[in-house]
Amino acid sequence: MNPTLTPHPLQPVALKDVVIDDAFWSPRLQTLREVTLPDVLNKFEQAGAMANFDRVRDHQTGGHAGPPWHDGLVYETICAAADMLRVADRSDAALEACLDGMIERITAAAAADPNGYLNTYTQLEMPACRFGQNGGNQLYQHDIYNAGALIEAAVHYYRATGKMALLKVAARYANHMADVMGPAPKKNIVPEHPLPEEALIKLYLLFREQPALRDRMGFGVDAEQYLRLVEFWLEHRGDYEGRAPLSMAPCGAAYAQDHLPLLQQDSAEGHAVRAALLYTGLASAALVNGRDDYYHAALKLWDNAVHRKMHITGSVGSNQAYEGFGPDYYLPNDAYLETCAAVGMGFFHNTMALAFANGCFADELERTLYNGVLTGVSIKGDAYFYENPLETEGRERWGWHGCPCCPPMLLKILSALGGFIYAHDESSLCVNLFIGSRATLNLQCRTTVRLTQRTTYPWDGKVTLTLDLSGPCAFEVAVRVPGWCAQAQASINGQPVHAMHAMQVRDGYLRLMREWHAGDTIELHLHMPVQLIEAHPSVEATRGKVAVQLGPFIYAVEGLDNGGVTDVTLPAHAHAHLSTESCPNLLGGITVVHGETEQGGQWTAIPFYAIANRGKSPMRVWLRRASDWAENRSVPWDDDRLYRVAP
Ligand SMILES: [Zn+2]
Repeated sequence: MNPTLTPHPLQPVALKDVVIDDAFWSPRLQTLREVTLPDVLNKFEQAGAMANFDRVRDHQTGGHAGPPWHDGLVYETICAAADMLRVADRSDAALEACLDGMIERITAAAAADPNGYLNTYTQLEMPACRFGQNGGNQLYQHDIYNAGALIEAAVHYYRATGKMALLKVAARYANHMADVMGPAPKKNIVPEHPLPEEALIKLYLLFREQPALRDRMGFGVDAEQYLRLVEFWLEHRGDYEGRAPLSMAPCGAAYAQDHLPLLQQDSAEGHAVRAALLYTGLASAALVNGRDDYYHAALKLWDNAVHRKMHITGSVGSNQAYEGFGPDYYLPNDAYLETCAAVGMGFFHNTMALAFANGCFADELERTLYNGVLTGVSIKGDAYFYENPLETEGRERWGWHGCPCCPPMLLKILSALGGFIYAHDESSLCVNLFIGSRATLNLQCRTTVRLTQRTTYPWDGKVTLTLDLSGPCAFEVAVRVPGWCAQAQASINGQPVHAMHAMQVRDGYLRLMREWHAGDTIELHLHMPVQLIEAHPSVEATRGKVAVQLGPFIYAVEGLDNGGVTDVTLPAHAHAHLSTESCPNLLGGITVVHGETEQGGQWTAIPFYAIANRGKSPMRVWLRRASDWAENRSVPWDDDRLYRVAP
């Protein structure tokens, strides 16, 4: 990555303006909607998460069910479901009625407090300790995290349905937090589980876009104070003036990224889910306040997390003891790697892609989505992983968990997928992900652009983009050329792009600037050979090993396909013996990779996301390479990279 990257803000394309129609993703999104979402909603009801709200409504005490962050997980699920409702061309009266029923119970609970404060754990179990005050522990109580998840769900549900009830609860609560927290004489309180930062930015943006909405709230709304509170939260981490020091073994205040003001932090530390959500909030704030120090801090943290501390699957959080980041280059194969941390990094990558308009961020978004995120749910959609190590002796997916945070987070990011595919500014349209879809967007020339993407990605690299315009318009189409792709060809209306002297790959995008006309078609062919990837030599766990990659997928050898043996050794000339096989009836339709072992046997690998769908079986990602392979290595490492194609 170029450390001199300068900010270049892009606009996302709203979910309602994108329809996904894709052979890989459409069936998965349907499974999430028809299997996973109902499964998660039922399990929250069974676990008493909704009954907690009823108890608060009825002014009861005690009897809180589940972890203190149960409320937040319910809200995250509502947020995901709202995005499912918002997707263009969709309506689902039964789902909307179900969500309205939940929102009615949440609204009734919020009405029990004159200030709109709502955290069922604190209200039922520690009523004198709101926001961790009076000897409480906000780190455990999750008051502000829960509030943030409520605010985010409310914004998404309003955008999906236009319904005001949850938005009123959220804005009233946001007003209360802005009254209580901030510079003296207000209280110095910062969220010990991030997420509320980005949530309040979303609330701020909603009122900025729709100022008339304030008049419909029934109480005062000053959106600027939401932004100021976010800035306070970000800048006052590590500032213990007027509040008790945070101690959290074994990594202290860094566990909650509360060891230094965030703008001074330059290393990804502590609990990985918290970190990823905090950095996402920082980048989101930069996009709104435009401050260089915010952009710069976000870039430094991204660089450290991605180029020193990220596993090849896009997962982060090696350390089991505190579910967090370890030191630079500490990437053991039995690492912890919570699904939620991959999801958080996915949001961070996407926000950085919007902040810097550089393809490297969408490269990492893609890596994370197709590997670290997707592996978190079974192909059938009703069994989950919390931890995602790269080598195991065999594990079963679970149906539910005492801390069921991962399924809601996974639903949230994949329900938002349509909004990650494209981005734009006034004169440029970026294609960040290769997912069959139709999108509508408006550029500076006031021409409505309708873009259709057809592709057989991720199994091969053919992409066709067709533009439909109401009139001719000059703008740039910037198509990402993935970092894994060494060779790409493009044509416009059948003419090879190089013949027009227009081919230009800059900042990770093939940039095509011209006057576009209705019906213009861009064809892209990304060469997608099987690649053997090596990690930076400073990573001890992967020394002398390679991972198998095909396009965006990282592969794993599972015992089931290999006579129970996963500890295979690849010969020095392994590249020459690699082959692929399309298996439409295996694991929902995958391409498997075959190769030879040093002893002349065969191994078979499947995409990492598809592991543990056929019962318990040993599995590993990093495969040993023959000892004579090392002698072939002569190319020095570029320290700005963590992974590269093995020479
Ligand atoms: Zn989780």
